[in-house]
Amino acid sequence: MKTAVFSARRYDKTMLTAANATAGHELLFIEDRLTVDTAVLAAGCEAVCVFVNDNVDAEVLDRLSRQGTRLVATRSTGYNQIDVAAARRNGIAVVRVTDYSPHSVAEFAVGLLLAVNRKIARASMRTREGNFDLDGLMGFDLHGKTVGVIGTGKIGTIFGRIMAGFGCVVLGSDRQENAVFQAFGGRYVPLDALHASSDVVSLHCPLTPETHHIVNARSLAQSKRGSILINTSRGGLVDTEAASEALKTGQLGGLAIDVYEQEANLFFQDLSSTIICDDVIQRLVSFPNVIVTGHQAFFTVEAIRQIMQTTIDSISAFEHGDALLNQVPSP
Ligand code: NAD
Repeated sequence: MKTAVFSARRYDKTMLTAANATAGHELLFIEDRLTVDTAVLAAGCEAVCVFVNDNVDAEVLDRLSRQGTRLVATRSTGYNQIDVAAARRNGIAVVRVTDYSPHSVAEFAVGLLLAVNRKIARASMRTREGNFDLDGLMGFDLHGKTVGVIGTGKIGTIFGRIMAGFGCVVLGSDRQENAVFQAFGGRYVPLDALHASSDVVSLHCPLTPETHHIVNARSLAQSKRGSILINTSRGGLVDTEAASEALKTGQLGGLAIDVYEQEANLFFQDLSSTIICDDVIQRLVSFPNVIVTGHQAFFTVEAIRQIMQTTIDSISAFEHGDALLNQVPSP
C-alpha cells in the first residue's frame, strides 16, 4: 500500500524499511511534519504514517481524505495529535502502537530522576572542564522516600516497581486501579494526597482534556516543598510557566522533562545554529536543577523495532481487510 511517512528521520527510514521487507508496502519518506501545508505531499497515498508532533487535525484530515487517504497510522502510543472524531467523519481509520517496550520509557524516567536528583549531567559538564568540585551537587537518598505515580498503566506500573526496588514508598493515582501496581506494594491515594506526600512525582497518564495541566500552580503549591517532578508522558500535562515559577521559589526542587507543551516546533531537529525564540524553554534549561531531553524516552532498539513492526502489520491488515488490532476507537 502506498504510504506517506511524515517526520521521517534516518532511524525511521532504516527501521521501517527493515520491518517492511516482506510486506513490501511502497513507503514515501517525508522529513517534514504533517501540517495543512505539507498534506499535499501525501496525495495518492492510501495510508499516512505520522509521529507525535505531526498535526493531524480536522482540516488536515479533510484534505487527506480528499486526496484518497483511508488510514492514519501513528508510530506512537499516544494519539492526542489526531482528531479521531474528524478522522471517522472522513472515513479514515486510525491505528496506533498499543504495545511496545514500556520498559524503555519507565527506565528513562528513572534515569531522569537519578540525573536530576544527583546532578549527574551537571557533574559531567564540570569534569569535562577540569572542575572536580562537589559544591552544589548534593542530592538525597531515594531509599525510604515517597514516589507518586500519576497514571498506573503499563509504563507507570513498571516505573513504580523499579522505585519500590529502590526502597521507596510508592503511591498511585489513576481512574482505574491496577492489581499489578498494588502487587508490589503500590498504594492508591487521592491526587491531592499524592502531591502532598510525595518527594518525587512522575507522570504516566495520557494527555486528554481531563489531564491537561494536571500539574498546575495549585497542585504545585500543595506539593511537598523541594519535591522533584518527572514528565516523560506528554508536555501538556504540566503548566510549564507554573513549574518555572515554583522552581524559582524552591517549592519545586527539581524538574526533568522529556516532553514539553510547545515541543512541536523544537524537538526532533538540530536547532543549535539558530536563535530559539521560545523564552520558556530557554529559561528552564538555564536552571541548574532542570533537565530537558528531546522526547527520547521511547528510543531503544527494542521499542523502535516493535513500533515499526506493529505499524507495518497494521498497514498490511488494513490492506487485506483484516481486523485492525490497534485501531483507536472513535470518541
Ligand atoms: P497506559 O494506557 O497503559 O496507561 C495510562 C494510564 O493513565 C491508565 O492506567 C489510565 O487509566 C491512566 N489515566 C487516564 N486518565 C487519568 C487521569 N485523569 N488521572 C490519572 N490516571 C489517568 O499507557 P502507557 O503505555 O503506560 O503510556 C502512558 C503515556 O506515556 C502515554 O499516554 C504517552 O503519552 C506517554 N509516552 C511517552 C513516551 C516518550 O517517549 N516520552 C513514549 C510512550 C508513551
